[in-house]
Amino acid sequence: MPSDPIDGNGLFECRLCGNCCKGYGGTFVTRQDIEAISRYIGTDSRKFVAEYCQLSGQKPVLAQRSDGYCIFWDKLCKIHPVKPPMCKRWPFVKSLLVDSANWQIMADSCPGIQPDVAVHTLEKHVRIILSEE
Ligand code: SF4
Ligand code: SF4
Repeated sequence: MPSDPIDGNGLFECRLCGNCCKGYGGTFVTRQDIEAISRYIGTDSRKFVAEYCQLSGQKPVLAQRSDGYCIFWDKLCKIHPVKPPMCKRWPFVKSLLVDSANWQIMADSCPGIQPDVAVHTLEKHVRIILSEE
């Protein structure tokens, strides 16, 4: 999911390749996400869930097209200003605080990630991103 080209101390710069918007396990949307995205695309919440979401268990996730991409991917994110928090924060995910080696694994599929970074710099930036939510 392309983030803003955050200046994460040279940690990351999105290349808009779309890899992270494809084949993902499910982008959950909260009630607030549903309302914000519905407003942004000019529909109502009920229609949005029916037309743009799938259910994962009982929870709505953004639908995937048959090619595996998120329904909102079209060379860039069509709902960028209101995309869900997990898209906004990518690739600075909580699991990096548990095991920073995940950063190198993520770099295999995300060309925006600078793989050779100091762990303390990475962890510091992840904490900053998570504290902004
Ligand atoms: S909402 Fe946007 S950033 Fe998130 S998966 Fe879909 S296209 Fe990618
Ligand atoms: S995989 Fe990385 S570089 Fe490609 S769109 Fe996603 S965040 Fe950006």
